[in-house]
Amino acid sequence: MEWTDETIAKLRALWAEGLSTAEIGRRLNISKNAVVGKAHRLNLPARPSPIRRAEGDATPRQAAPKRAQGPTLPPLAAAAVSSAPMPALRAIMPAAKSSAPRATPCCWPIGEPGKPSFHFCNAAAATGKPYCEEHAAIAYVRVRDKREDAA
Ligand SMILES: [Zn+2]
Repeated sequence: MEWTDETIAKLRALWAEGLSTAEIGRRLNISKNAVVGKAHRLNLPARPSPIRRAEGDATPRQAAPKRAQGPTLPPLAAAAVSSAPMPALRAIMPAAKSSAPRATPCCWPIGEPGKPSFHFCNAAAATGKPYCEEHAAIAYVRVRDKREDAA
């Protein structure tokens, strides 16, 4: 058996896929012992069991990271990741947007009515009041002043 770079590359790939040494030997048309010996010389990570046992095992994590490097899994995994959370996000976003800044705007007029600069104070109204804290304070002072004037 002569180990070419191509054969070694195939051995590494099949080994990474978690195939049994016997199966790798069949695919490379060499003996199982040749596979084991070459894998040892290449310092390939030892695998205690072939892929069938790894999948049924209680600890399948050893096989998972290696197979995630395969050419077929990443697109599928990426599609699952990108498609799953998006509908949930879209469902949440509008609700969050409409509820968060929904505070009643302050009704305090600023400037002279009829002029372009006229507008209402855009601060959030204080709870139970038509104006923001600042303008509510002014409004209540004025009301008090008027009452005192009238009295
Ligand atoms: Zn205000």
